[in-house]
Amino acid sequence: MGPDELDGLYRDEVILDHRRNPRNPDLLEDADITADGVNPFCGDEIHLQIKLDDRGRVSRVGYQGAGCSINQAAGSMVSEAMEGMTLDELGAISEAFREMLRGDGEPTRNQLSELGDLAALVGVRAFPVRIKCALLAWATLDDGLVGYRRRDG
Ligand code: ZN
Repeated sequence: MGPDELDGLYRDEVILDHRRNPRNPDLLEDADITADGVNPFCGDEIHLQIKLDDRGRVSRVGYQGAGCSINQAAGSMVSEAMEGMTLDELGAISEAFREMLRGDGEPTRNQLSELGDLAALVGVRAFPVRIKCALLAWATLDDGLVGYRRRDG
């Protein structure tokens, strides 16, 4: 895998679109779940806020990111993918995303279609040092869920 392929990843239309037009950038003041994540390796940061509705589904998301393109695009994608999900569904998609990047063998077409825009990051598989960038949003979400369950459980 050479630098050209990393360039290709940065030029991917879905990734570029999320990078240039991040979804859900507004800070939520009334969030039920909040978490911050950092990846010191390349200065990535994620700030995440989630508001749940009365059925326990994600009704609004706030996401602010800084750092490399992969981190920022992934954070925007994650914030969009979460909308309407229950906390269990969030756990399942988080698991599916990790499997896409770290699983043995290439992900199947079915696995990719379940991930929607997030599947655009499949190319990160080829760049182990970038996997942390793509996973930071999920790791941050996991921290937020742990804190939320501890507080409410
Ligand atoms: Zn990064």
